[in-house]
Amino acid sequence: MRIHLSALGCRLNEAELEQWATAFTGAGDQITTSPDDADVMVMNTCAVTREAVRKSRQKLQRLQRDNPAAKLVVSGCYSELAPASDMAELGVDLVVPNTQKDKLVALTREAFAQPDMPQAATIPATTALFNRNRHRAFIKIQDGCRYRCTFCIVTVARGAERSRTVEDIVNEVRRLESEDVKEIVLTGVHVGGYGSDLDIDLDGLVKALLEQTGIPRIRFASVEPWDLSPGFLDLFENPRVQPHMHLPLQSGSDTVLRRMARRCKTESFNELTQSLRAAVPNFNVTTDIIAGFPGETEDEWNDSMAFIGTQGFGHIHAFTYSEREGTKAATLSDSVPMAVRQERSRQLHELAETLKHAQLQRSIGDTADVLWERGREVTSEDGITLWRHQGYTPNYQRVITLSSTDLANQILPVKLLSIDNGKLMGEIVSQ
Ligand code: SF4
Repeated sequence: MRIHLSALGCRLNEAELEQWATAFTGAGDQITTSPDDADVMVMNTCAVTREAVRKSRQKLQRLQRDNPAAKLVVSGCYSELAPASDMAELGVDLVVPNTQKDKLVALTREAFAQPDMPQAATIPATTALFNRNRHRAFIKIQDGCRYRCTFCIVTVARGAERSRTVEDIVNEVRRLESEDVKEIVLTGVHVGGYGSDLDIDLDGLVKALLEQTGIPRIRFASVEPWDLSPGFLDLFENPRVQPHMHLPLQSGSDTVLRRMARRCKTESFNELTQSLRAAVPNFNVTTDIIAGFPGETEDEWNDSMAFIGTQGFGHIHAFTYSEREGTKAATLSDSVPMAVRQERSRQLHELAETLKHAQLQRSIGDTADVLWERGREVTSEDGITLWRHQGYTPNYQRVITLSSTDLANQILPVKLLSIDNGKLMGEIVSQ
């Protein structure tokens, strides 16, 4: 994980920051000076005076605004004294009491590190991947899954597929539109199975949304890379359907995929990604991969890495395999030693960074429409006040820009100029 640490108040608070930094680094995490690219932001607060309380609150608000996707962990005297409702209002994900400060790193890692497998291929990656905000809403279109992937517990817990009616979904989207939401993300356990219990499929739903609502941007969350109808690709001809899909591959080795009971093998996955990119250049494909599935041999792992390396993923959600009671995989013999799983996961993170950088690099020089999120005022070196905004391109790449006006909730084109700390930097194109 990438961790951003900050403190207010006494020397002790500062010193604790040092200790935490050492412990996080020792556990394999990375300390980042900027909140923008953090997965977790930790703040040591202070309440010695009313001013210290005000500053602690202000700092928490700023952190939340700078990177709403990151987890916010708070400790120190203000978080100790403030009511739980204040913490909720400030978007705090975890409060570590002063008496447990020496366990802050362990508690944070327990809560947010991702050595664990997803509950299903779909839901957790969605929440981790998509940044929620006032202008983006998640629409649950179905529940349940007809398949039995051997690592997945959700299919057992959530039962058969049940889809919401088109009318119901259209009404919800119209309501969100009237509240100025600009982008919807269609989610579910098995999104590609939408409509299996009704007389319609996912294409039909998206076409209805395009015809019956004016919502400017429609995205898919996580979609299993099968059960997509031949007409599915044509949806992307409409620029309101955003050219990004999170397609959980799970492994790049066909023999591992068989043991996982996945319905997609590498060849058909490759065909799908090729077709998506033929339909829309620079189509962003992101994925989930599990490292160290039971029985995964060195050769299978190497094959898997080689295949993953050919897929140009914009992001890989890497999971270290962990046994989950109630799944078939947990009963498989031949488990991979934990140290090997972790080493494979480390290699996967490295490959993910390389692929992501290449994907960002391919975007340099392009102009893209970005939905700008709430910004903050900053003062430039020559004393001018500017707005610093982040937003996402249609293919879900994060862009930062500086503007002389507030761009919040507008979709405006930006020229993509450079990469800084894993993010694109851009300049608004004057209209
Ligand atoms: S397709 Fe597999 S991983 Fe996805 S929800 Fe169904 S059983 Fe779980």
